[in-house]
Amino acid sequence: MLTTRPRGTNDILPGEVEKWQYLEELARNVCKQYGYHEIRTPIFEHTELFLRGVGETTDIVEKEMYSFLDRGERNITLRPEGTAPTVRAFLENKLYAQPQPTKLFYIGPMFRYDRPQAGRYRQFHQFGIEVFGSNHPSVDAEVIGLACDYLERLGLDNLEVHINTVGCPECRKKHKESLIAFFEDKKDQLCETCGGRLEKNPLRILDCKSPLCQELSENAPTTLSSACPECQIHFQQVQEYLTEIGIKYTINPRLVRGLDYYTNTAFEILVQGIGAQSALCGGGRYNGLIEQCGGKPTPGIGFALGMERLLLTLNQQEKSLPESGTPDIFIASIGAEAQKASFKLAIDLRKKGFIVEKDYLDKSLKAQLKTADRFQVKYTLILGEKELAGGKVLLRDMAGSEQIEISISEIEDFLERRLQKNE
Ligand code: AMP
Repeated sequence: MLTTRPRGTNDILPGEVEKWQYLEELARNVCKQYGYHEIRTPIFEHTELFLRGVGETTDIVEKEMYSFLDRGERNITLRPEGTAPTVRAFLENKLYAQPQPTKLFYIGPMFRYDRPQAGRYRQFHQFGIEVFGSNHPSVDAEVIGLACDYLERLGLDNLEVHINTVGCPECRKKHKESLIAFFEDKKDQLCETCGGRLEKNPLRILDCKSPLCQELSENAPTTLSSACPECQIHFQQVQEYLTEIGIKYTINPRLVRGLDYYTNTAFEILVQGIGAQSALCGGGRYNGLIEQCGGKPTPGIGFALGMERLLLTLNQQEKSLPESGTPDIFIASIGAEAQKASFKLAIDLRKKGFIVEKDYLDKSLKAQLKTADRFQVKYTLILGEKELAGGKVLLRDMAGSEQIEISISEIEDFLERRLQKNE
């Protein structure tokens, strides 16, 4: 137990963490270019927020939340997703009073008691964006386009953008009735969950993962066929905007978001080759959500992209990310006095902006040079008692093994010139 992490969690170790930093930095840069601002909300929220903001008949709320009573008997949940917390923060901090729309992004851990497998974990990370305050179809296209832009900058291949419309509450009502009629005589064959939610939320059957439910819903009436003229126009315009920015998409009538406050556009970005977990990114419009969470009716749209799945895909497609930087220099020392001097020299050089590694174990010079090689440094400074007495050090070029003597006061200038020129 003591040396085992909880099931479904991961350690992100040095070597791997640099990839995360790169992906996060790219996400921040892309968002900045599109005018999205970062928001950081708490890791835990009142459970009530997710009951309202994710929906009581969803898998997340029904089976996947990490909920507990805190010491003050409050019902708390580790956030399973980022949209509801962002909506809460938008309302609580009155961001709606600022010029609209509000364009936000977040990057951070989410928690779901899911069945762990490749690409599915209990603690995972999402990069997500949300736009509140505009129902303009260009916003739908911008949100989808931002996700594509991000993924394309990483050089990913075989991406597929699937889109659909789930319509407005009026279309949904009509669709719900036609679905209940369609499934009525198939009710007994549906999985237990779907059979139970037929009357309440038949739309959820369409994105149920059970193969039999999927088969049964093959010819079910689609949301598109129930869409009112206004919703059809919105969907049409979103497509025009997507075409305008060169995004290829597939209309997938089976793509639904099962709750009443999801409206109009639903989309997913899928990638081939990472097995069952092929959805890298999912999102859509939720024009009813902000009102559902206690605000004034305000349109909203967003996506969430799974960072672990993104890394899996990058590995799968053998896309390399920039390696982490190696130290500029290694400092080796021989003897107690030189160890002390090397300690000070390392810190002085770090304060000047160099990345410096040194020996911490009083190893032999040979072993220290081996360590320097392992760090792949170009230069090693060697401090011996003799050189030190004369205010000098040996500078060893690790590639050619040549050594020259230079004075301590010249090191900084020397390194600056050499490293800058990348000699
Ligand atoms: P969702 O919030 O369920 O729409 O998921 C959005 C994205 O988050 C998915 O497309 C995945 O990339 C990622 N994701 C969702 N659940 C998990 C999980 N349990 N483990 C890893 N990634 C996940």
